[in-house]
Amino acid sequence: MSTDLGLLLPGHDVPLGRFTTVRRLLPHRERRMIGAWCFVDHFGPDDVRGRPGMQVPPHPHTGLQTVTWLVDGIIEHRDSLGSHQLIAPGQLNLMTSGHGIAHSEYTPPDHPDGMHGLQLWVALPSAVRSPGFAHHPSLPALREGGADVTVVIGRLGGVSSPATTHTPLLGAEILFPAAGAATLPLTPGFEHGILVMSGSATVDGHTLAPGSLLYLGDGRDAVSVACPDEARLFLLGGEPFDEPLVMWWNFVGRSHEEIVEARTQWMAGERFGTVEGCAAAPLPAPELPTVRLKARDRHGRTH
Ligand code: MN
Repeated sequence: MSTDLGLLLPGHDVPLGRFTTVRRLLPHRERRMIGAWCFVDHFGPDDVRGRPGMQVPPHPHTGLQTVTWLVDGIIEHRDSLGSHQLIAPGQLNLMTSGHGIAHSEYTPPDHPDGMHGLQLWVALPSAVRSPGFAHHPSLPALREGGADVTVVIGRLGGVSSPATTHTPLLGAEILFPAAGAATLPLTPGFEHGILVMSGSATVDGHTLAPGSLLYLGDGRDAVSVACPDEARLFLLGGEPFDEPLVMWWNFVGRSHEEIVEARTQWMAGERFGTVEGCAAAPLPAPELPTVRLKARDRHGRTH
């Protein structure tokens, strides 16, 4: 069992596009990944009446899958494969960048009053080269104690999501419609973490507020959660990911050279394709740091 069991990770605010601020929960200095989950952003709940909401022009990705999960609002996705998809609460958009893809994400002009959701990245094994996009309009659900559980990615309590992953992984929304408790079954070979989107929860003696993530370690077959009122949580898990990664801007790679090549090709309009139907100019990549980018393993050690 991990020694950092019960590590409470506070998020920090990061701007996303011009009009949205997200709380970034991973990577964290003390915990870079949970399984292959390598990036966890929680946005909202925001009141976007009379405001643009999410406005993210075309930008590239490599080496990862993006998981978009909304509990309020609506987002319009377009990508360089020609996908054009509105996503609403309770649905999953799963984009696989493989070697390279570009996408845009916009709250449409006529939108609901609220916006609240998650955007998560899953690191891909380096052998996964093909890009893809899948929209899952409904996902399987089950009841565990006082919680309504939606299995977004992977398998929980004998129920499986239809989403394709490339490493053993779990992502599940845990909704308590009222005060209650639940014991959720876990996979001992996975490491897990749980984050609170709204309300509050007591997990392993820790009281979690919205926008915080509790790392649960590995080797567990269950976790008990109690909520004093209505609350919405998200459970993340996966087999520990052993490959060291270089994460820079929107790229996940294995080496400095790989990231430099991806940046150069994006800036030259090569490799990633064009996001048809999006009028906005593509996002330029930031300048590279003057030092070499280092690969880090899931413990943060450099390689
Ligand atoms: Mn993106």
